[in-house]
Amino acid sequence: MHCPKCESPFEEKKYGAGIQVHSCQGCGGILCKTKTLEKMRSEWMADLMLDRGDPNKGRELDKMVDINCPSCSNAMSRIFDEEQAHVFMELCESCDLIFLDAGELTDLSDFTLMEKLKNLLS
Ligand SMILES: [Zn+2]
Ligand SMILES: [Zn+2]
Repeated sequence: MHCPKCESPFEEKKYGAGIQVHSCQGCGGILCKTKTLEKMRSEWMADLMLDRGDPNKGRELDKMVDINCPSCSNAMSRIFDEEQAHVFMELCESCDLIFLDAGELTDLSDFTLMEKLKNLLS
């Protein structure tokens, strides 16, 4: 499988209990199952370990539309996060795969952490 955005090969990365993602060696984008994304958002430090790409590059690549799924090559739909509407991700519904640009996981996780702290304080 190759990255749908920069066409570099993916490497497999694992973290914690049951988190397994494909990380692009070129742009640092992350391809994973939707369930894995939920896990990563709640796992402490997962974003630091897995989201190693350059966020500026990620923001640049985020402008790309018409992405095809690297697994089944169907068109991926652009979705945004319900809590953070500025974070766009690509989703393949048939494979249940989601692609995050570099920096986006960090963005999502930071928010989750902030929410947790707020809840603790209130
Ligand atoms: Zn890439
Ligand atoms: Zn697919």
